[in-house]
Amino acid sequence: MPKLLDDGVVENVRVVVRIRPLSEKETESGYRQITNVDSVNNSVSVENPQAADGEPPKIFTFDAVFDTDSRQLDVYNETARPIVDKVLQGYNGTIFAYGQTGTGKTYTMEGNCSAPELKGIIPNSFAHIFGHIAKAEEQKKFLVRVAYIEIYNEEIRDLLGKDQNVRLEVKERPDIGVYIRDLSGYVVNNADDMERIMTLGKKNRMVGATAMNAQSSRSHAIFTITIENGDMGDDGKQHIKMGKLHLVDLAGSERQSKTGATGQRFKEATKINLSLSVLGNVISALVDGKSTHIPYRNSKLTRLLQDSLGGNSKTVMVANVGPADYNYDETISTLRYASRAK
Ligand code: ADP
Ligand code: MG
Repeated sequence: MPKLLDDGVVENVRVVVRIRPLSEKETESGYRQITNVDSVNNSVSVENPQAADGEPPKIFTFDAVFDTDSRQLDVYNETARPIVDKVLQGYNGTIFAYGQTGTGKTYTMEGNCSAPELKGIIPNSFAHIFGHIAKAEEQKKFLVRVAYIEIYNEEIRDLLGKDQNVRLEVKERPDIGVYIRDLSGYVVNNADDMERIMTLGKKNRMVGATAMNAQSSRSHAIFTITIENGDMGDDGKQHIKMGKLHLVDLAGSERQSKTGATGQRFKEATKINLSLSVLGNVISALVDGKSTHIPYRNSKLTRLLQDSLGGNSKTVMVANVGPADYNYDETISTLRYASRAK
């Protein structure tokens, strides 16, 4: 269950780990699982496949650890549900999926809409939001809007935009803060609408990646749900509160700047590494609570999420890892990154 602070409030930043099962191919190839979960202590231990005799496994502790057999709905209920409840009340929240390519970030965030039990956090949040609205008192009014963008090479693309060749600009205004100029926003009335829009954006993401001869694993995708709720006050006037939820499928965290990458590839690699390390710095500064300067402005990603990270906002980072021995280095690197964010 989500950890509660003394006053019964959900913690502002939580970090959880999810381990995907060995794939059929990995099992057939004889790869071995090196992760072990201790669900009492919420820790995961990782054996070094090249360990010298007697070397103990490395142990990392988190707010929760989801083992290879975890179910989508359990992940939703423990990580996302408390944040979505807050957003319905007018707070902001952000959920990140971090990890090496192939470890389950997209499975965790989107999953597969072909079967209810395979749906990930994004579609489960749709059902939760509209379920809540359907049950709300009559005088309460809700307006739900969505937007979907991709950040690739520090450039922003509107995944719901008519012209996928356009790059959008980040602007700032004293009254509304940081925003994206000309971003499309769709008002949605039910979970099916939302699912259709998510699928459209996903398709545009893949088409764009092909056109640029890139891989979507090198971009960040941000699905944003804005919920306005209006309630009739005792003064007879509508009082409107706005909550925003960002659901972020981050670029693959694998080391990009392998020797040999030059030109465009090198530039791209440096930018991915930079934005993930800025994100790590921002989150650890927030968790630390003593920093007077939070480096939001050092990347597009953190700049755009600024009003939903820190303050009253709720943040969850899901660090995804693979279970197999050949992923040892990347798994350790992901768990270290995630521990820093705690
Ligand atoms: P990423 O987005 O991090 O690159 P994916 O989400 O695409 O990784 O996952 C890679 C593969 O592993 C996909 O085929 C996905 O269906 C599968 N997979 C990931 N996590 C799980 C899980 N928890 N249970 C079952 N299959 C999973
Ligand atoms: Mg993915």
